[in-house]
Amino acid sequence: MSNSGEPTIVSRGAFPPTAGPLVDRFDRSKHKLRLSLTDRCNFRCHYCMPEDPEWLPKEALLSFEELERIARLFITRLGIDNIRLTGGEPLMRRGVADLVARLDAQRAEGLERISMTSNGVPLRKHADDLVAAGLDDINISIDSIDPERFRAMTGGGELDAVLGGIRAARDAGLAMKLNAVVIRGDNEEDIVPLTEWAMSEGVSLRFIEFMPLDARGGWQPGRVVPEREIIERLAERHHVEALSRTREPATYYRVDGDYRLGVISTVSNPFCSTCDRVRVTATGEIYPCLFSPVNTDLKTPLRDGASDDDLEHVVRGAVWRKGKGFVESAGYVQRAITMHGLGG
Ligand code: SAM
Ligand code: SF4
Repeated sequence: MSNSGEPTIVSRGAFPPTAGPLVDRFDRSKHKLRLSLTDRCNFRCHYCMPEDPEWLPKEALLSFEELERIARLFITRLGIDNIRLTGGEPLMRRGVADLVARLDAQRAEGLERISMTSNGVPLRKHADDLVAAGLDDINISIDSIDPERFRAMTGGGELDAVLGGIRAARDAGLAMKLNAVVIRGDNEEDIVPLTEWAMSEGVSLRFIEFMPLDARGGWQPGRVVPEREIIERLAERHHVEALSRTREPATYYRVDGDYRLGVISTVSNPFCSTCDRVRVTATGEIYPCLFSPVNTDLKTPLRDGASDDDLEHVVRGAVWRKGKGFVESAGYVQRAITMHGLGG
């Protein structure tokens, strides 16, 4: 597996800067914040959730007031201009449109984009309210266009319900991308039909390599369908041309002249050297990387009455200590947290 995405350390001293952009030891500045709203979900995707999850108690979750304060801190003091709401399923949290509206009110302070990642099902109910509240775009997960395979991957999810959510998002005028995790033995047969369906719908699709963050220990290197194979399968039926890589996590390809397809190849071709994200879980832990073995608690100081100066210090320290990323510990490592708790 390639190590081309490996960041190199810069010597800027032993401590994080006390002002200016939010940076780590590898000089990667952060401008995207992923806020997880809940660990709960209406699906049980085997690559993400335990079979019988024990949900976090409500009081452990950050309140909307706390989330609003954290967002303001990151925007006004730390240069974050993009916020993505995620989970679990973020729309399982009651009143998410209210939270979006609270974030929308922070645009004057520097917030440029409010996004969400969802399994799409609750959009039939919420799409209009989310748009009215100020949501800019949504990523919807759809791993298969075959109802049986979809059900198997999501632990009983109904494909029709997701398709209904996609239609609702489109009718509401919400910009969207689709994401599909590809797992050998589960849905590699979907690569071509899913792409063809997305092309016919005129909606952008990104395939995601299976990452070792599943809650059931089912990840193995052999179950990863690497970017190269995804593209080879497509190239058997379509003209596929690589586009130059940008700072985005996905590598993009042009399919049949004008369709743009992405592949997020965290395992076979990691983008760690340009990573510009930081994550806060629903319980207020900072994870500077999806693969961080440790986290930093922001909720306790927040609830203990810490000043913005103190909280800024906590965040800068947590991000400064960020490791190299997946490139450092490629492969399956037992982690304290899995995707549904961390917020993918
Ligand atoms: N419930 C929402 C959804 O499914 O879009 C948001 C949360 S989910 C954790 C965010 C994204 O992480 C989804 O696109 C999901 O497919 C992806 N994901 C979860 N576990 C993964 C894994 N082990 N490897 C790769 N992607 C994963
Ligand atoms: Fe739920 Fe999303 Fe995880 Fe599937 S990937 S179980 S929809 S949080």
